[in-house]
Amino acid sequence: MAFKTDIEIAREAKKKPIMEIGAKLGIPAEHLLPYGHDKAKVSQEFIKSLADRPDGKLILVTAINPTPAGEGKTTTTVGLGDGLNRIGKKAVVCIREASLGPNFGMKGGAAGGGYSQVVPMEEMNLHFTGDFHAITSAHNLLSAMIDNHIYWGNSLEIDARRIVWRRVMDMNDRALRDIVVNLGGVSNGFPRQTGFDITVASEVMAILCLSNDLDDLQKRLGDIVVAYTRAKTPIYARDIKADGAMTVLLKDAMQPNIVQTLENNPAFVHGGPFANIAHGCNSVIATKTALKLGEYVVTEAGFGADLGAEKFFDIKCRKAGLKPSAAVIVATVRAMKMNGGVAKADLGTENVDAVKKGCPNLGRHIGNVKGFGVPVVVAINHFFSDTDAEIAAVKAYVAEQGAEAILCKHWALGSEGIEDLAKKVVQMAESGAANFAPLYPDEMPLFQKLQTIAKRIYHADDVIADKAIRDQLKTWEAAGYGHLPICVAKTQYSFTTDPTVRGAPTGHTVPVREVRLSAGAGFIVAICGEIMTMPGLPRVPSAEVIRLNADGHVEGLF
Ligand code: ADP
Ligand code: MG
Repeated sequence: MAFKTDIEIAREAKKKPIMEIGAKLGIPAEHLLPYGHDKAKVSQEFIKSLADRPDGKLILVTAINPTPAGEGKTTTTVGLGDGLNRIGKKAVVCIREASLGPNFGMKGGAAGGGYSQVVPMEEMNLHFTGDFHAITSAHNLLSAMIDNHIYWGNSLEIDARRIVWRRVMDMNDRALRDIVVNLGGVSNGFPRQTGFDITVASEVMAILCLSNDLDDLQKRLGDIVVAYTRAKTPIYARDIKADGAMTVLLKDAMQPNIVQTLENNPAFVHGGPFANIAHGCNSVIATKTALKLGEYVVTEAGFGADLGAEKFFDIKCRKAGLKPSAAVIVATVRAMKMNGGVAKADLGTENVDAVKKGCPNLGRHIGNVKGFGVPVVVAINHFFSDTDAEIAAVKAYVAEQGAEAILCKHWALGSEGIEDLAKKVVQMAESGAANFAPLYPDEMPLFQKLQTIAKRIYHADDVIADKAIRDQLKTWEAAGYGHLPICVAKTQYSFTTDPTVRGAPTGHTVPVREVRLSAGAGFIVAICGEIMTMPGLPRVPSAEVIRLNADGHVEGLF
């Protein structure tokens, strides 16, 4: 069967002017700041004026551990938003913005797929409204001011060997991972080693996504630890006096972007922190604004539920005071098969046994999410190769776990294909069954928090960490950072730290290689395994085939 590509479908979209989309949510035209005809930002003043309104219901879309077979979280988030609107609920989608760099490495987008997409998808995957450029600029302003401070006498006594603030760029460029700066003689400063990360890995990105307003943003920017003195005393961005100017650069980027789905329903697309060294959710300000404007807000968390949902609950919801009403776990027959040991090339052949064998990965995520006090439903994102027997096997397994699995055909049919899921979500949310609580209390010691995540979510026996790491955590506790949540950076492909271990393993341990303080964002990153903060391009990058065609349209991107 021949299918239209995501971009072909997106190009056929019958978009409405963005003012009409805003009007659906009651946003007055003067508070919509248009970027062209199909994108707008919502003004800070309007957002402030919403404070006393009641909140709608928050629905999380998460998934099993990703496999190369693809799951479709964003596709399902967008589809469910359209599905809820279809059954008469005022629903708003909240998703992340895309990083520009990776699009030139491998084909792919962040706007959903098939008939469940947000548009304009090309722009959303490229420069969009410039938020990531603003974040890049704010980050690098601080970098420049640090080196400049040292150049002009270093009155703060920064130890040039202990500068932890690097530089960022929204490009996959491995050449910049480790570099020496300030070369070239006296007038260029003091040579030192540093490097670039990709913009989405910047703490400024995480801060923008967790800040409630511009005052909160500036305070958090000031709280960033940029370096240490020889005596290991922290130096903050506030000491460098960068927080005010950084806030100025981020003023517009803090205003959430609104676009539309293929079915002309509103979608907020705002912020995009890495899901490993950061928390991987769209901005708090967009989610909170959407909750004031809609009856239902459907949002996505990155990666599988072990990483994405855990951080959504323990970092975003905890810090922003959000209370999710229900969660959807996206699963596919193909991914169940891969978890059951089938190779990607053989996914097209019916294999009910492999589906059954792979289901425990889904089962563990169901149990984990329920553990947060949030009711769960499974969305089987339908692929054309799925057989009835395979679908029945997933449904039967999920029923045994005390949940329901609903077949969803939104990718092929749009909202029409996801009505059943929308109805179930409404029923769960309206039942009032949700009783959300984070996994661990703020007061728990930092190492114990990490152990709690490892044991309860990954089903590991324990966490292994050198004394140096445990001592570091104790030092931060003494310095007043003990109340912060933990942000685990580990492979998304497995419950363990080994990406090749699929299914629902037990008996493993979680080794912690390094811990980092993100004092501005407000979490402590525990790095378990190899984590890349500046990706490279593959041998044949998609950039080689990306071009404008004779009609001026982008080709080769998706
Ligand atoms: P995630 O958010 O989980 O990373 P996406 O929703 O972005 O996944 O989907 C990834 C890709 O898979 C997209 O190109 C999308 O078109 C494709 N896809 C999603 N669901 C289906 C489906 N049911 N059938 C075929 N392709 C799909
Ligand atoms: Mg996604």
